[in-house]
Amino acid sequence: MIEYSKRLTYIKSELLDLCTSSVNSQNRFHEYALLLQTHLKQYFYIDQSCFLFYEGEAALKPFYVHSSIKVDYQQLKKVYLMSYFSQQKVVEIANKLGGFSPFTHMIFIKENHFDKYGVVFIQSSPEWLTFSQSDFLEDFINCISKVFYLINEQMEIRQHENQYRKLYNMTDLFHSTMDIDFILENMLITIQENFPNFDVELILSNDQDRQTKLQIKPFDYLSERPTTIQAFVSGEITIEQAFDKDRCLLNVPINGRQAIYGILQVSAPISYVFSNAQKDFIRLLAHTSGNALENAKLYRQSHRLIRDLQLINETSHHLNKLLTLNEMFLFLQKQVIQHFQPMELCFVLKEGNEYNITEAATNFFKTEESGFYIEHVMKHFEGSQDSLFIADFSRIVGTDTPYKSMMVVPMIVEQRINGFCIVLHQEPYYFSFDSFKLMQSLIHHSSLAIANLILRNQLQEMVNQDYLTKLFARRYLDRFVESSLENDRSGMFLLIDIDNFKQINDTYGHQVGDEILVQMGNLLNKIIGTRGICARWGGEELAIYIPNISEDEAVNIATELLRSIPEATNPKVTISAGLVLWNHEHRPEFHSIFLQADTALYNAKENGKNQVCVYSEWMSSP
Ligand code: GH3
Ligand code: MG
Ligand code: MG
Repeated sequence: MIEYSKRLTYIKSELLDLCTSSVNSQNRFHEYALLLQTHLKQYFYIDQSCFLFYEGEAALKPFYVHSSIKVDYQQLKKVYLMSYFSQQKVVEIANKLGGFSPFTHMIFIKENHFDKYGVVFIQSSPEWLTFSQSDFLEDFINCISKVFYLINEQMEIRQHENQYRKLYNMTDLFHSTMDIDFILENMLITIQENFPNFDVELILSNDQDRQTKLQIKPFDYLSERPTTIQAFVSGEITIEQAFDKDRCLLNVPINGRQAIYGILQVSAPISYVFSNAQKDFIRLLAHTSGNALENAKLYRQSHRLIRDLQLINETSHHLNKLLTLNEMFLFLQKQVIQHFQPMELCFVLKEGNEYNITEAATNFFKTEESGFYIEHVMKHFEGSQDSLFIADFSRIVGTDTPYKSMMVVPMIVEQRINGFCIVLHQEPYYFSFDSFKLMQSLIHHSSLAIANLILRNQLQEMVNQDYLTKLFARRYLDRFVESSLENDRSGMFLLIDIDNFKQINDTYGHQVGDEILVQMGNLLNKIIGTRGICARWGGEELAIYIPNISEDEAVNIATELLRSIPEATNPKVTISAGLVLWNHEHRPEFHSIFLQADTALYNAKENGKNQVCVYSEWMSSP
């Protein structure tokens, strides 16, 4: 008896020593487990012992294990042993817990108000058996329980302090940065510092910006492990014993206030059990990083939105100042190339049922190979007005195409497609979804300006054109002559009047008269072409103006008209015409050129019709 009390005194004093010495030692538990092992050996002749502890509901976690002892600790769920903790102190290992050889007994260590439980597995000895029958057993177990508790508490406080200091430092850093890379990098460093023996992987959802230096695995719903997906979807930590990898995986969601951005996956040896404190720490770390990431993303996003708005605003503003469709498309081409950096680009305009490639196109779209892409788009627009966002065109058409990334945005005004813009890149998945959305906004906002100009041009044409003969209207001719008198070196003005037209009307009717006017219009356009303009002066009088022309040429053209009109009209008519010629040595007044033509015409009629008179100053006026 005395013997036992003495032994206990020794044990207590050594445990006390352990508690008071090396206050800062990181290896407290280790030392404790070793000391316990030594005591068991020294005082009770127990050769083999192993100390394990439970934390919360987790499986047993070994503190110190003899490398020669192989035990599947994961199997020893707390529930199996829970009942023992409240009842007994020492239990003989029954057969059902077999496989734990060489152990024969378990010593249960528990402190009330404390969610940590320890078990010492021992290989019993006769000495121990006798001791365990004595009254000293309880004292012994109380003593090692108390020390277990004490050390545990100290360790935890120190660990927490350490971890949270790091966390604090990291949070502090995060507040001072909007750099996503920096945030992720620091999260990884902090984890690696705290758990140097684990591997860490960042699995981020793929809407992240791509230009990061870090090793990031994109989150892929199709290939990710179910536990990883579960953590990502639920926002809760998941743990998996991945037998295929021989690792224990801890999936911690990286979440901010608005979304989950990915998973921080910590992998440890398969038998490893993560403590609650570790899980809490990693969760907090991931959450802090998630918040910082979110802030940085929102910051970036707001900047990008402002930039996008500026682009759209600037583009619309500038477009409205441009006067021709060509200028508009060329300007848009510049904007699109600058912001989306495609390899090829083309603006296509729909005129009637035809799609025409505008001048705003890269060289590729002037080649035949581009037809394949354009036809695909045209076919698409037959049944839809939606934009196209294609990451890999090859996959869609089933053949290897040189360009894989494609974005097509239609120009739609009042539910009608006026054309579209197409951009291409060789690399698949080249354009981001954000740039697709931006391009849509850009084109949508430009469509109205383009449509307005098209309408304006059409309206202008309508105003400039005579409805019957399709010749230019008088007003247009006036402007043309006025500008030519200022800018050109010479010109001719020919005023034509049909001879005895009243009679034609009276004989054949007005409709036939109209047809003759149309026939004459066609002939005039054919003869003059793009050299000058033909206009309906009024009633049955037509006019021709050609700039930069010699006198001989002018007379030839007039003579040619005089000759061909009776041939081109049915019933035949002849004309009389007054011709005015000018050159830079003497530029006539705008109004006098018409009066002069009228005078010459009057002379032609007076002289017996069916002739051209060239104006000269001595001519008598009507
Ligand atoms: P002249 O040889 O002196 O020119 O004789 P004319 O009968 O042609 O006489 P004038 O030029 O004065 O008459 C113009 C006639 O042309 C009057 C009108 O009946 C006819 N006319 C004017 N505009 C049109 C038109 O748009 N369609 C038709 N069918 N007839 C027109
Ligand atoms: Mg007339
Ligand atoms: Mg006439």
